[in-house]
Amino acid sequence: MSRVYNFSAGPAVLPEEVLKEAATEMLDYQGTGMSVMEMSHRSKVFEGILNEAEQDLRDLMGIPDNYRVLFLQGGAHLQFAMIPMNLMKNRVADYIVTGQWAKKAFNEAAIYGKANKIASSEDETFSYIPDCSDLPISPDADYVYICENNTIYGTKFHTLPNTKGKLLVSDVSSCFLSEPVDVTKYGLLYGGVQKNIGPAGMVIAIIREDLITEDTLPGTPTYMKYKIHADANSLYNTPNAYCIYMCGKVFKWLKKMGGLEVMKARNEEKAAVLYDFLDESRLFKGTVRKEDRSLMNVPFVTGSTELDAEFVKAATEAGLVNLKGHRSVGGMRASIYNAMPLEGVKALVEFMKKFEEEHHV
Ligand SMILES: *Cc1c(COP(=O)(O)O)cnc(C)c1O
Repeated sequence: MSRVYNFSAGPAVLPEEVLKEAATEMLDYQGTGMSVMEMSHRSKVFEGILNEAEQDLRDLMGIPDNYRVLFLQGGAHLQFAMIPMNLMKNRVADYIVTGQWAKKAFNEAAIYGKANKIASSEDETFSYIPDCSDLPISPDADYVYICENNTIYGTKFHTLPNTKGKLLVSDVSSCFLSEPVDVTKYGLLYGGVQKNIGPAGMVIAIIREDLITEDTLPGTPTYMKYKIHADANSLYNTPNAYCIYMCGKVFKWLKKMGGLEVMKARNEEKAAVLYDFLDESRLFKGTVRKEDRSLMNVPFVTGSTELDAEFVKAATEAGLVNLKGHRSVGGMRASIYNAMPLEGVKALVEFMKKFEEEHHV
């Protein structure tokens, strides 16, 4: 068996320790004689897995009691619709468009009401985060929406926007659990777990209790109501049970590592290795405004599409895989989530140095 360094943006690298533990429990989960995959989601054993996962996440993030944690299916994409259906009471919402994911959420919201694009960084290929200290927030806006870490472009909101008292809704898919957050600053934050937590197929939504109501837009399907899932403790229908189990294991791993302050320090150290090299390289360049750089997704280019392709190919052969940039931007992108060890980032930088020398620049 040989493991590669996997820089995929998602589904992405998971902690090796967690994978090994899951492997030992594959045929017989703790004396039940069956895999978690084969288990009733209504069983006591699974109920324990679910409740423990929620509690561990609450401990890690310091989630206050007046917030609910929902384990939902349909990916981040379903939230693009579920959010307006549940929260757009006045049918008005303000969107800050900092990349493709925010844009998709904005377009989806426009189906249900008046979605206002109050800021955007599309003029410079989403390579920065706009100044959000004094935006024209709509007086009747039901919420202000952001995508906090832009997976494709490698930017991150290091300061949350001034919403002028409006609810903040945030897609945290690619920065989930990468650093501590103050949950009370949000009405709702949610993320697909396949970026920084677990396997694909699930979203975790953390939502303030008073926002979970029967009062949804007319025609909202039952399944799309937060209340249905909250009342059923995420067991309204069969959940993605194995994914919940895997996420639970990752939460325990994060706790063991020391929690989110420690993860933040580790992530800063890892990102600095790569960004410091990019800042002095004669061949490779980062594509993002420095103060808006993400700790999780690091896009870079050589300036030549041929050389980019050659680099990606050579890196793959060296066991550094999934470095090709998103199809919409090209170049390269290294996603260095929680589970990417420092050695992986160092190996990448060493390889980039060697490539640079071989190309006599
Ligand atoms: C990957 C990603 C999405 C899309 O997630 P799906 O689970 O495929 O729907 C949305 N937002 C962000 C920030 C992402 O990184």
